[in-house]
Amino acid sequence: MVIIWGSRHYFRRDVLRERGVCEHCGQEAPLETFTARKMGHLYYVPLIPEGHERVIRLCRRCNRYSSLPVSALPAAIDETTAKATTHLDAGEADGALGLVAALMYLGATDAAGEVLDRLEKGGHAKQAWIGRGVVAEKLGDMAQAADHYAAAVREDGRDASLRCMLADALMQADRAGAALEHLRQAASLAPEDPHVRMQLLSCFETLGDLDGQIDTMQELIRRVPQLASDRKFQKRLRKLCRKAGREERPNPYAPV
Ligand SMILES: [Zn+2]
Repeated sequence: MVIIWGSRHYFRRDVLRERGVCEHCGQEAPLETFTARKMGHLYYVPLIPEGHERVIRLCRRCNRYSSLPVSALPAAIDETTAKATTHLDAGEADGALGLVAALMYLGATDAAGEVLDRLEKGGHAKQAWIGRGVVAEKLGDMAQAADHYAAAVREDGRDASLRCMLADALMQADRAGAALEHLRQAASLAPEDPHVRMQLLSCFETLGDLDGQIDTMQELIRRVPQLASDRKFQKRLRKLCRKAGREERPNPYAPV
């Protein structure tokens, strides 16, 4: 006889949903953070309460996550807030900004808001807007996240990775056309960065722009020569060229 024994989470609250890279399986996946009651179950019938816990970034692909008992949350929040305060007092805006997401994972939205207020009052408007974007994103409001990142871009238009964050939020808010503008800018600010071009490629794909996809792929091959011998990549490029009625340009970087 097989005894099915395990545990599950019930009564979820303070839920954050996002797409991100899972730290357990390394894949991009939907991730969920929430507070819930953990119950041991026998044949899927909940039996034994195992206490309340904060589940952090539960991966929908591999089902693994990090967690903290709810009783340990106040101390963790205090510790994270204290670290943020140390950064703020030292004028290290990026350090403080880096802890905003951590506070959100701990369910401390108010404490995250206080860090952002202090950033703004301290004259770090760019970081404050980025932080507000992060908060909106974790709460699942991609349109608002995009507005906040756009405000950050108005503070500093020369930050390529910030434009990529904005473009990503715009794509998720179904505004690929607006995302394209920022990705083009990001590509001219950081021409050597293949990540920007990969994002540009998926934007052209969403827009159904064949020429944009072909040009970006050829540009990627020029910058990342290994792609010239990547069969999948080459197959995709040939298919796009056929569809667009374009001659595939001979690739000068292909191995002889
Ligand atoms: Zn995973």
